[in-house]
Amino acid sequence: MSGFNYEKDADGIVTVTMDMAGPVNSMSPKFSPLFKETIAKLEAEAGLTGVVFASAKKTFFAGGDLNSLLATTADQTEAFFNTLQDMKADMRRLEKLPVPVVSAINGAALGGGFEICLSTNYRIAYNHKSVQIGLPEVSLGLLPGGGGVVRMVNLLGLQNALPFLLEGKKVTPEKALEAGMIHELVDSVDELEPRAKAYLVEQKGNEAAAVQPWDTKGFRIPGGNANSPKLAQVLMGAPAMLAQKTRGLLPAPEQILDCAVEAARLDFDTAMTIESRGLAYLAITPQAKNLITTFFFQMNKVNGGASRPKDIEPQKTKKVGVLGAGMMGQGIAFSSAMVGIEVILKDISVEAAEKGKAYSEKLLDKRISRGRMTEEKKAEVLALIKPTADDADLQGCDLIIEAVFENIELKNKITQSTEKYLCEGGVWGSNTSSLPISLLSEAASKPENFIGIHFFSPVDKMPLVELICGDKTSDLALAKAFDYTKQIRKTPIVVNDSLAFFTSRTFATYIDEGVRMTTEGAYPVRIDNLGKAIGMPVGPLNVHDETSQELTRKATETWEAMGVKNTWGEQDAVDEMLAFMIGENNRGGRHHGGGYYEYGADRSKTIWPSLVEKYYQPDFDISDADIKDRLLFRQVIESLKCLQTGVLRTVADGNIGSIMGIGAPIWTGGFLQFVNTYGLEKFQTRCGELAAEYGERFECPQIVADKIAAGETFQ
Ligand code: NAD
Repeated sequence: MSGFNYEKDADGIVTVTMDMAGPVNSMSPKFSPLFKETIAKLEAEAGLTGVVFASAKKTFFAGGDLNSLLATTADQTEAFFNTLQDMKADMRRLEKLPVPVVSAINGAALGGGFEICLSTNYRIAYNHKSVQIGLPEVSLGLLPGGGGVVRMVNLLGLQNALPFLLEGKKVTPEKALEAGMIHELVDSVDELEPRAKAYLVEQKGNEAAAVQPWDTKGFRIPGGNANSPKLAQVLMGAPAMLAQKTRGLLPAPEQILDCAVEAARLDFDTAMTIESRGLAYLAITPQAKNLITTFFFQMNKVNGGASRPKDIEPQKTKKVGVLGAGMMGQGIAFSSAMVGIEVILKDISVEAAEKGKAYSEKLLDKRISRGRMTEEKKAEVLALIKPTADDADLQGCDLIIEAVFENIELKNKITQSTEKYLCEGGVWGSNTSSLPISLLSEAASKPENFIGIHFFSPVDKMPLVELICGDKTSDLALAKAFDYTKQIRKTPIVVNDSLAFFTSRTFATYIDEGVRMTTEGAYPVRIDNLGKAIGMPVGPLNVHDETSQELTRKATETWEAMGVKNTWGEQDAVDEMLAFMIGENNRGGRHHGGGYYEYGADRSKTIWPSLVEKYYQPDFDISDADIKDRLLFRQVIESLKCLQTGVLRTVADGNIGSIMGIGAPIWTGGFLQFVNTYGLEKFQTRCGELAAEYGERFECPQIVADKIAAGETFQ
């Protein structure tokens, strides 16, 4: 049987080794017939004493077929449901074989992969951190529809199963054993199959070993069924807690909770049917399409190097110079040293540089206190960071990243005074958040080696880096910056030069629109709440208080000096607001004496009364729907403009960048993907309505009409 190897030994044990065509085993259309045929053969096998399910691939089994899931349309719901039911009936046949079945888990068993394991009687895993176990479907807008919800609830009890189902937690074999998801560990892959067979030999004559717990007489779900008084109480609060987390924007967790409760209430087979209905429903939701597209396919593309120049050898960074040991520089130093890169951390005085290094020490101590790091490793990391005030220490760096104040003259000056210390072919990166890279690179003797490496704050936590190519940036410099970003375990997106690049520029429209509606007379807290209601992490005014009005003022001043102010977008609302907030009231943000909100020493936060007094108009008439769309569409339109003008080079970079760098709502799959499932024509129409009512900034970018004419979407 091509795809599944079937081998019976002298003890009557059959080993089924899954070895499907392609790099992984998965639930592709080829899986069902293979599985069905195998089960039928096992049922008919004379003298069978046990079965081992194993894998010939590096991973045990990769799970569902996301390509088919993505392609499933509403009119195929019933057919999809039937396919699921059919596959689950086969899994049920497997667990009802009269002999014990063991899964020998040699590599990752996630989603559908772990669901196969759950339909075997005994699970043994190779104890290695590469072997991840779990049901991460929720993160793709789906639910484990191959029996995962129902079996996990029956296995662990409702309360213990929920975190795995609702959060899609992936765990190591040790943790899976602790949680009761698997039964046994072995220390090497080679021991797996022999141990599985030995177990089966041990169980000879033990009929109970062939019966799943939920099929034994008198079985009770651990922790009780959904009607038990203790659980009933938990369940009363659960939907509200979930709604608080998802803000009602993600249907998958709600379906999972529903289905898990049903599994703890109804008989096994009925619950299975409900589970299939749940997945069939979710598979066609726009949210699932968005999450699968962006978090699986596009994330793989981005991390796989789709935006990295081809044909350039891997560029490993060995010694990095970090100029400026402030908030950003200290984080860049930490992230670099953590992966073994030698760091020269330079500031204007040794004391300032040492202060920057102390930041790493603080982060490392935190890890030690949580048992996640040893003292030796801490010493190793710290030894890699050399604080200094002497440029000459930069000698031989293959990469220098500057993170000094946002000031062109200063940045130009340090480029000229330190680039000579770079080794042959070394690359210069600027962490500027808003200054054009082409302009900054004019100060360099080799502008082709100059690139923007834009980190996000706090650097040690934020997973994204935006790489900005200036007019002259070479492919080699881009490859170097790209590989460095991967080396420090972050995700690189690549964009072309533009004022504030892609992320900061798009993010600025969110703040601008929030400020604009405030000046028009909407109640500020309402605007912030509706920002959260669309799924942004915080409201626009709130976030402006954090990033600070002061920073906006400085950036505006810089642009004014450069003569580029007001060459892009409408900024008059923000200008007016800055004049009122900073000019008249000296309120430059949360850490600059307060902002739109007042921040009490007792951590209280209330709207600043003078803001309301100045702008709020109780009779200003605007619907919640319009406020929400204005906040979302501004950012989507700006992203489309970035794509249209080549600031964004790929759709994948735009989606990943908007989610990881701007905080775009997860359910959208990113600001460009949003348009695909909203519908391009519908999007055009809504833009037209918003433009007519609120101004030309809402006019739909031409690229949408072009895509419609070409019959394409944003891919
Ligand atoms: P910061 O004020 O915390 O740190 C700047 C550091 O540069 C200070 O320690 C200062 O002493 C040092 N410095 C000044 N002149 C120097 C010189 N000649 N040589 C060496 N060091 C010098 O600033 P920050 O928030 O870390 O920002 C640094 C850069 O990163 C800016 O360009 C900023 O726009 C950019 N950025 C900031 C953020 C953020 O959220 N803070 C995000 C992305 C990018």
